[in-house]
Amino acid sequence: MTIPIVLESHENRSYNITIDSLSKLSFDNNVAIITNPTVAGHHLETLLSKVTAPNLQIVMVPDGEEYKTLHTVEDVLNQLFEYKFDRKSILIAFGGGVIGDMTGFTASLYQRGIDFIQIPTTLLAQVDASVGGKTGVNNKFGKNLIGAFYQPKAVYIDPAFLVTLPPREFAAGVAEMIKVAVTFDKEYFSFLQNADLHDLETLKKAIGKSVTIKANVVNQDEKEMGIRAALNYGHTFGHVIENETGYTKYLHGEAVAIGMVMANRLSVELGLLTSDEELQIKTILDKMNLPTDYYINDVDAFYEHFFLDKKSAKNKIKFILPKGIGDHVISSDISEDVVKKVLKTFGAR
Ligand code: ADP
Ligand code: ZN
Repeated sequence: MTIPIVLESHENRSYNITIDSLSKLSFDNNVAIITNPTVAGHHLETLLSKVTAPNLQIVMVPDGEEYKTLHTVEDVLNQLFEYKFDRKSILIAFGGGVIGDMTGFTASLYQRGIDFIQIPTTLLAQVDASVGGKTGVNNKFGKNLIGAFYQPKAVYIDPAFLVTLPPREFAAGVAEMIKVAVTFDKEYFSFLQNADLHDLETLKKAIGKSVTIKANVVNQDEKEMGIRAALNYGHTFGHVIENETGYTKYLHGEAVAIGMVMANRLSVELGLLTSDEELQIKTILDKMNLPTDYYINDVDAFYEHFFLDKKSAKNKIKFILPKGIGDHVISSDISEDVVKKVLKTFGAR
């Protein structure tokens, strides 16, 4: 299955996402595979059996979000200079979101920009980071605050790489699939309700659907001026949860799962979602082994934390609220009282 990503304003940056078992990839130029020891340990041999290039290098970066820094990017850049890479050289991102974000950013910088290809190996990176062209690193001021929109030349998604993924990481990816189903596609939601995602064919279909939905959204709104904001369903709350728990307790997708439960309750409060629909969403999150509960110790502090998010422009909090299952509304005008009333139902005094 091939999904074209057509960026309306920039035809030359359009590319294809292929979802299938990885085929042979032959290059005429220098190629560097950027990966980490975890992913390499499981799958590098497979990848190397598929890739041919006149000068093929492997660049290892340490595994972990804490290494998603300018420092690591500079290390990679230095290695590329040492390998005498030129402007026609190509980077292959082989790993999860961390590897993808850093490789894309490095590609955008090397001699003002070289091509890169993504071969995502986590479910989250396959369904989420593979579309949208967001690249970057973290710094002491926050996550992804340094970066660029930089599109890959191609993305190859092979669900077979996911067999070694730890179950929590897998579930975290499923959260982003549920996210797009709830906000955009009721039929896909029903499909997920009944799907056995450990069946490779079913998983492939589900990934394809998620990628297609996200691609449609991003094609319409590459720089997140409008509809793309809907992809932040669950994230407004989720970012606060990640922040409050120091980015250690929950994986991103897990925090988003709880965030969706919170957004749903706000939707019910506003009459946009029925209690039955709310329950259906919670049930699927539970079934996928995602967390759905969180104890808010201090509602006022939680509320203040919304404003730390770089997406809360001009002190307005943008809420993405499901409107039934398969649709949503985006609102920046929900009163503080209503939001706090909902937050109080999450265990606060
Ligand atoms: P994400 O893709 O969720 O943003 P990471 O890039 O940090 O997050 O990947 C999560 C963890 O899973 C990392 O430790 C990474 O090395 C590991 N990982 C990535 N792909 C695989 C895989 N196919 N099998 C096992 N572990 C993997
Ligand atoms: Zn996300």
